[in-house]
Amino acid sequence: MRYISTRGTAPALTFEQAMLTGLARDGGLYVPEVVPTLTHAQIAAMAGQTYEDVAFDVMRPFIGDTFTDDEFRKLIAQAYAGFGHAARAPLVQLDANHFLLELFHGPTLAFKDFAMQLIGQMFQAALSRSGERVTIVGATSGDTGSAAIEAFRGLEAVDVFILYPHGRVSEVQRRQMTTPTESNVHALAVDGDFDDCQAAVKDMFNDFAFRDDVRLAGVNSINWGRVLAQVVYYFTAAVSLGAPHRQVSFTVPTGNFGDIFAGYIARQMGLPIADLVVATNRNDILHRTLETGAYTKQGVMPTISPSMDIQISSNFERALFDAYGRDGAAVATQMADLKNGGFQISQGAYQMLKETFKSGRASEEQTTAAIRRYRANHGELLCPHTAVGVHVAESYLGTTPMVTLATAHPAKFPDAVKDATGITAPLPPRMADLYDRPERVTRVSADLATLQAVIKERINQ
Ligand SMILES: *Cc1c(COP(=O)(O)O)cnc(C)c1O
Repeated sequence: MRYISTRGTAPALTFEQAMLTGLARDGGLYVPEVVPTLTHAQIAAMAGQTYEDVAFDVMRPFIGDTFTDDEFRKLIAQAYAGFGHAARAPLVQLDANHFLLELFHGPTLAFKDFAMQLIGQMFQAALSRSGERVTIVGATSGDTGSAAIEAFRGLEAVDVFILYPHGRVSEVQRRQMTTPTESNVHALAVDGDFDDCQAAVKDMFNDFAFRDDVRLAGVNSINWGRVLAQVVYYFTAAVSLGAPHRQVSFTVPTGNFGDIFAGYIARQMGLPIADLVVATNRNDILHRTLETGAYTKQGVMPTISPSMDIQISSNFERALFDAYGRDGAAVATQMADLKNGGFQISQGAYQMLKETFKSGRASEEQTTAAIRRYRANHGELLCPHTAVGVHVAESYLGTTPMVTLATAHPAKFPDAVKDATGITAPLPPRMADLYDRPERVTRVSADLATLQAVIKERINQ
């Protein structure tokens, strides 16, 4: 299994290399050269299996010889051992044909833990074998950063720097990033928005001298390993609702297009997914693109679902690559136009995207109303991202079971939940002292040179 870049000119890599690298050297994202498929019988055999067993079956064809089967099973077991629910990703029924896939039982209460906990295990295993050290730099709108810090804290071969937009993450998110005491983790509060943080990280990857000097590695959702780990729960959810004998639809609260892209891969692998619905908040570039065929940036507006406050949706490039018939040069041209504000997708590529994804959008009022409605009518407390999802899902409900991804625990966004319902969602007991732990954070400007200097100084201590 080899991985190729969406911009067509970086060298093809193994799974291990693609995972440790993150962004390709031509600025593109790595994708599998060929997506492996599972047979109807292989998918049917997943019924009744543990999450870990399904995870092995789904991911094994992608990892080549990076790990032996025994090693890989062990890494998967360690990754999910700390989850607070035996099913890892339980389904809850909301209505006759509407289900919630709870992805918030990991250590930082958001779905990012599914990928990050496994990536942490895989990085550690690969690096301890080679004796190398890496510097992980990531941008976060809140949940990626807390999940990364939790997954990598205390690991010998890794320094982790997380850039988050100062003042634009929830207090729980911030505290999860600033309270770990291990000296290899560094939270950086950047003066800017999430796109500024993400742009700074991309610029660091494109500065090859710096990249090689600090041995830069990325764990943002551009990392293929992240996408891969998220493919698994589409299988566990669909199979428990009757797949492969029956079709299942999914609605996915979306920002960087990573989670929904994992659903697209699951479908390519042979899982019978009917609708794949992109749900955005008022930062709706993806919804507008699917409506109009024009990918045009607007400013990022803060919302009560901050993990989706994104305008430049990195993983969308992977979908574009397929939409353009895997023409890396065409993708590179479009991405260059993005620097000038946006681009028009060609007719053929747009057609493919329209056939592949459906979409919808929730305003702030609709999000709050959904939190209130699901509490009153279903007894469920939803985080605001999940509320965006159920609002959008409602317009696609029919006879096919619809699964909305519950991407975070309501206690991670207590203000939005309290405003809507009057209820303060309690933190799970293992985190109850989060508000009492001392914080450690460095405030920095979004300037590339300043950020690079801070990183170099810290890793040389
Ligand atoms: C990251 C995140 C999202 C968006 O996921 P993408 O993979 O970036 O599209 C949605 N909800 C929550 C709670 C998140 O943390």
